[in-house]
Amino acid sequence: MGMDLNSEEKMLVEYAKEAIVKYNKIRHANGGTDTLYSFLLSDSGKIHEGACYESNLAHATVCGERHAIANMILQETYKSRIKSIVVADPVPEVQERGTPPCGTCRHLIWSQGTSETTVILMQYIQGKEGWTFPKLEKYTIKDFYPLPYEPKEGLWDNWQPK
Ligand SMILES: [Zn+2]
Repeated sequence: MGMDLNSEEKMLVEYAKEAIVKYNKIRHANGGTDTLYSFLLSDSGKIHEGACYESNLAHATVCGERHAIANMILQETYKSRIKSIVVADPVPEVQERGTPPCGTCRHLIWSQGTSETTVILMQYIQGKEGWTFPKLEKYTIKDFYPLPYEPKEGLWDNWQPK
């Protein structure tokens, strides 16, 4: 883990901060509350956004990361690769560690990413004056998902009992 963001990651983080404030203002105006957001930079240079969809069926919740990935596929192609993804979670006070992606999202970030794909955990806090962003952590997807689920294609194609 290192905190040295490259220029693209800095741009993505700045984009995320503005978007979080924009969307939280909309949510609050409509009686909602802060939520987890995700913003990803694809290898095309486009940014795709996502927010956690907290369904009234617990098992039907859609993670912000998956929402952002689905938006990338919608507007681009399955060949698109994630360069960097921000996971921004609201917290009441600074936490030792930000919220990392869940297991399924780790797999999906890996499958739409590369070995270089970075995951930036962002904590944000709602205050009286607006929102602040006190802590960032940067990882690679390999840090979170060192042994991917990757069934070998064709493994059994020519198998015969011996
Ligand atoms: Zn998830």
